Amino acid sequence: MKVTIDQDGCIECGACAEACSEVFSAGDGEKASIVETYRTDSPAVGDVPDNLVDCAEAGVSSCPVQVISTG
Ligand code: SF4
Repeated sequence: MKVTIDQDGCIECGACAEACSEVFSAGDGEKASIVETYRTDSPAVGDVPDNLVDCAEAGVSSCPVQVISTG
């Protein structure tokens, strides 16, 4: 599953990484990114394996400003 973070809209709250650290990385003062293992085009875009789809979806749902999309 493809996951994309609109980093311009990220408010650096860290919720996605808290919900699913296997897929998302977000620290103090940093825009959220996809962990290196699953990155594709850029730190904001990744391809998540089937066994982590539920985890990634939890991260998507946790985002208060809804800047993470899947497809
Ligand atoms: S949950 Fe959304 S706003 Fe918060 S760090 Fe992740 S992408 Fe950014």
